Amino acid sequence: MAIDYQSLAVKGVQALSPYQPGKPIEELARELGLNPADIVKLASNENPLGPSDKALAAVREALPELCLYPDGNGFDLKQALAARFGVGMDQITLGNGSNDVLEVIARCFADRDSEVVFSQYAFAVYPLVTQAIGAKGISVPAKAWGHDLDAMAAAVTDRTRLIFVANPNNPTGTVHEAEAIEAFLEKIPANVLVVLDEAYCEYLQGDQYPDGVKLLSRFPNLIVCRTFSKAWGLAALRVGYSICSAAIADILNRVRQPFNVDTLALAAATAVLGDDQYLERSREVNAAGLKQLEQAFDRLGLGYIPSAGNFIAVDVGGRAQDIYQSLLAQGVIVRPVAGYGMPNHLRVSVGLQADNDRFIDALEHALQPPGQGAADV
Ligand SMILES: *Cc1c(COP(=O)(O)O)cnc(C)c1O
Repeated sequence: MAIDYQSLAVKGVQALSPYQPGKPIEELARELGLNPADIVKLASNENPLGPSDKALAAVREALPELCLYPDGNGFDLKQALAARFGVGMDQITLGNGSNDVLEVIARCFADRDSEVVFSQYAFAVYPLVTQAIGAKGISVPAKAWGHDLDAMAAAVTDRTRLIFVANPNNPTGTVHEAEAIEAFLEKIPANVLVVLDEAYCEYLQGDQYPDGVKLLSRFPNLIVCRTFSKAWGLAALRVGYSICSAAIADILNRVRQPFNVDTLALAAATAVLGDDQYLERSREVNAAGLKQLEQAFDRLGLGYIPSAGNFIAVDVGGRAQDIYQSLLAQGVIVRPVAGYGMPNHLRVSVGLQADNDRFIDALEHALQPPGQGAADV
């Protein structure tokens, strides 16, 4: 008799649908018989600058160590992070991307009896990790595409163990200022942990935005998560981290895999932290690209959600899926967000000026009514 393996999976996993990543360049190239070099991918919020030279040099230097296990404590990287942010090394937890840290946090602090609060339109990984551990996800309706922090605080019950807040949020790009985040944290009971996911914080310019790390002394129930995948340009290597109280970090470090960040990733991340010029370039290119995209959307009469990240969600109306397909056929990969409950939007990552131009031209072509060119590509 054939075994129904689905029924053997634990409950939370049975109903799980996998995370939908941006379409890889190589895949589209295979499907359409295109040259990968002719494809523009603006689908995964990757850094269009390419990696920092310092990161590349560090990776090359570390190559002879491939036969050795990595430093499971990540000493050099933790030391560099601790110095940069003025925290203790014992407050840091490294992850295989911050995705890993988010999952470890959920596994440490929530189970089948717990509720986990997040916002509608928030990063897909929050409901995913919640469901995988069998906890109950509480999705709080958004306000103007962003987190409704008052409603999220009001959603806390005696079963709530964790709250995920993405600031800025992906895929909407919405952000809360420091005052709002602090007022929110003040309302949350001390025995409920708040994960402040700051994957895009490096792009924020201005004192009005919160720096989660500075809030840790006032709010010991806070865990700040950050990543090297976006502004630091190391998405392929999978390095992220959390900063929190040493007591919470001690728990996270018990559960994470002992060698969850590899040698090349550790070396590159440590090196890039010393490359503030690269970070500055990332910010400049992103600010200019966002402006370029916004101007194009204005010209084309398309609505968009103003973004604090390195991507922007544009409202292309009811034909979003067709427009996505037309863009693919023209060698431009963006990200549909229907899975987030945003069927009329496409999320576009900010590229270099020429990439953005390619996308804008392709979009303009795709927007033409059927029969006037969009269908024939
Ligand atoms: C990209 C992203 C992350 C994590 O990415 P990693 O590559 O796993 O570090 C986390 N949170 C948000 C909101 C993101 O958009």
